[in-house]
Amino acid sequence: GKEISTKQLCDIMEEAYRRGKEVLPQGKVATYIPELGKADPGALGISLCARDGWHFNIGDTNRRFTIQSISKVISLALALELLGMDKVFERVDMEPSGEAFNSLIDLDLISNHPMNPMINSGAITVANMLLGKMSFEEIQDVFRKVCEDPEMESNEAVFRSEMQNLSRNRAIAYLLQSKGILDDRVEETLELYTRLCSLQVTAVSLASMGMTIAMDGKLGNGESVFTGRTMEICKTIMLTCGMYDRSGRFAVKVGLPTKSGVGGGLVSVADNHVGIGIYGPALDDKGNCVAGGPILEYLSRELQIHLFQKN
Ligand code: GLU
Repeated sequence: GKEISTKQLCDIMEEAYRRGKEVLPQGKVATYIPELGKADPGALGISLCARDGWHFNIGDTNRRFTIQSISKVISLALALELLGMDKVFERVDMEPSGEAFNSLIDLDLISNHPMNPMINSGAITVANMLLGKMSFEEIQDVFRKVCEDPEMESNEAVFRSEMQNLSRNRAIAYLLQSKGILDDRVEETLELYTRLCSLQVTAVSLASMGMTIAMDGKLGNGESVFTGRTMEICKTIMLTCGMYDRSGRFAVKVGLPTKSGVGGGLVSVADNHVGIGIYGPALDDKGNCVAGGPILEYLSRELQIHLFQKN
């Protein structure tokens, strides 16, 4: 990226926010988990964490919302650290799926393994790997560290709402079990997966998470949570699979490893440089924050952080 002053950065953030606000009416909040349907479709917040730990915040950056699929990145990182790359990718592939986040098509017809750890089938498999190795509380502690957010708790209402509307994920999990990819602890796996999805973050905590990943797993205080190798794998998978069946377009236009969640969160990583967290529960037709595209495309250009940019 280029050197810019604080004033310039504030102006860039304001313009990014304006561009995001403009497209919010094109999005809709998720309702397939009824409790998520209560979110305010007009909410928008952007937080940018710079290398010295400074946060630049604009809009609704302190509002809590559930992390949902962004949890898949941290779960994957934990599985990689606990089991190693070979064991993890024996059970989950690393190919973009081109299908929706909760699709069963590839799983049953194309490949006998989940296509990647960023879609539900893959993340449920990763949760099965963590089961018995770490308790929910221990995993939650890692989430709190990675996001520099010691107050992070789950949202019980969202958790219960999703547990009561779990048919599709349950179908995926039992199909996985029938193929021998999940062991018999199917219900426990689903509960852990859903609990991790219900942890509540803010745009600020997601920006810190982005920064931790950008800094190869190191926190602001120098403590190392994940190895550089683990972060390298996570960033690559985020770039190729992080935005579901919009990952390709996103990689071209934004050029930053990014992960979305249906709660409206986005985390984006400019390697070695910047972490970005966005909250906007109005989603596009693929289940990604609708404002995320215009905001990140603009930030990536202005800050010159597209992975493959030439000056
Ligand atoms: N808990 C959600 C589900 O499994 C997460 C999906 C998402 O964020 O895309 O359906």
